[in-house]
Amino acid sequence: MADTGKLYGLNRLRETLTVAESTRRSMQGNRSTGTKPEVTLRSALWAEGLRGYRKNVRKLPGTPDIVFGPSRLAVFVHGCFWHGHDCGRARMPSTNALFWQTKIERNRARHEERRAELERLGFTVLTIWECELRHGMGDVVDRIRGALGR
Ligand SMILES: [Zn+2]
Repeated sequence: MADTGKLYGLNRLRETLTVAESTRRSMQGNRSTGTKPEVTLRSALWAEGLRGYRKNVRKLPGTPDIVFGPSRLAVFVHGCFWHGHDCGRARMPSTNALFWQTKIERNRARHEERRAELERLGFTVLTIWECELRHGMGDVVDRIRGALGR
């Protein structure tokens, strides 16, 4: 019947809207340029005197969020949802779980490839989780300082 098709379409639309709403928050920490966690981290580094980094370096594999060129240190700030961090902030939406799962797995695999490429180029790669930044910057700044040998 014609109505069935229409109803199906409506349900699909509703499902899509529900997903958008329920995941919007989780996704706000994703790593498109200038998202909040990496901006916060960069401010903390600057305040701690760890300067001279470049941001969003496109010519390096994976476009690291923060790069200390001379020290060959590349830092990624990862959104817990997008990269499937096992911390509770990455809870899978109940609708379209498979879709998100696949997407997240792909992100993780891609990151591992980029990390390997960077390491081949002689970089140390640090991955910082969005949730780590919520408990204050101190530990993360120390890790970066340590990696820089300062
Ligand atoms: Zn996390």
